[in-house]
Amino acid sequence: MRLKPGARVLVRGDGSLQVGVRDPLILDDLTADERRFVERLGTVATVSPGDRSRFAVILARLIASGLVDQDLTRAKEPTPRAAINDGGPIGCGIALALARAGWAVAIDDIGRAVQSPRGTYDPGSLAGTRQAAAADTIRRVLPEADVCAGRARVDVEVIVSHGAPLLAAAVPLMARDTPHVYVTTDERGAQVGPMVIPGRGACGTCVGLGRALADAAWPRLSLQLTAGRTLPHSTPDVTAQAAGLVAGALGWWWSARNGPADAAHGWLDTVWTIDHHAPPSTAAAPASPECGCGAAGPVGDELAARRARMPETS
Ligand SMILES: [Zn+2]
Repeated sequence: MRLKPGARVLVRGDGSLQVGVRDPLILDDLTADERRFVERLGTVATVSPGDRSRFAVILARLIASGLVDQDLTRAKEPTPRAAINDGGPIGCGIALALARAGWAVAIDDIGRAVQSPRGTYDPGSLAGTRQAAAADTIRRVLPEADVCAGRARVDVEVIVSHGAPLLAAAVPLMARDTPHVYVTTDERGAQVGPMVIPGRGACGTCVGLGRALADAAWPRLSLQLTAGRTLPHSTPDVTAQAAGLVAGALGWWWSARNGPADAAHGWLDTVWTIDHHAPPSTAAAPASPECGCGAAGPVGDELAARRARMPETS
C-alpha cells in the first residue's frame, strides 16, 4: 500500500497538509505523529502493518479519496485481453497503447505487411502479414507484452474500418455479450465509438439507425463502404488520439465491469470525432428503440435467436 504515483504531499502553510492536486484531501488538526506519517507517505514506498493499524483513520480517508495505490488487490487481477481487426498504422498504434496499458492483445489482419505505409512497423520485422508485423513490432518495443497474431479468445474487441462502422464484425460479439468499440477512419480523421456494452448502451446498429434518420441514403452508402476493401487510413496524430480514447474506454470498462453502477458512463452512447490537426469533439449517440439490442427496449427476436445458437466458448 502506498500513495498513488504522482500524488504529492504538500504543506499548505496554515498547519494543514494537502495530498494530491486534483480533488485533493486536506488534513487539518494532525498530531505530530500523524503529520510525520503523512509526510513520510510522500517518500516511502510502503506502509508497515504497525503503521497501518496506528494510522487507520487517516489511511481510510486517503483510500476513500482515491489517493492510495492498493497494488495488493491489483496484483490478483487477471490480464484483460483485447482483439483488434487491423494491423495497419491505426490498429498497430491502438494495439501498442493497449499493450502498454497492460492488455494482452490479439491482432487479426491477414493483409500483407507491404500494404501498410513505410514506418508502420519496426524496420527489423520481416513478417509477411500485417498481423504478424504488428505483433512483432509491439514485442520489440515491449518484450514482456502478451501479443499474438490471429484469432484468440478475448474480453473485448476493437473494430477498425474505413468509412462506416463494420457492423457485421459485431454480430457474434452482440450474441455473446462481448463489449467492443468501433474505430472508423475517413479522409479527415477518424471516429471512435460507440463503446458498446451489449444491452447497456447504444450499439453500432443503434447509431446506424440514427444516422439513417438524418440521411436516408446512409444504409446504401454504408453498404458500399463496408463491402469495399479500403484499408483504414490514418495520420500519426489521429492514430495517437484514437489510441488514447480506445485505451481510456476499455480501461474504464475493465475496471468498472464488476462494480456497482459506474460513474464514467460518458464512455457509452458517445461518438468522438477526431479531425486531423483539430481538437476532438463528441456527439451523443443514443440507443435506438428500433434496434432490438436491448439498450433502449426489449432484446429483439433476431438477437435472441443468435444468442441461443451461439456456442458458449471462443
Ligand atoms: Zn442497438
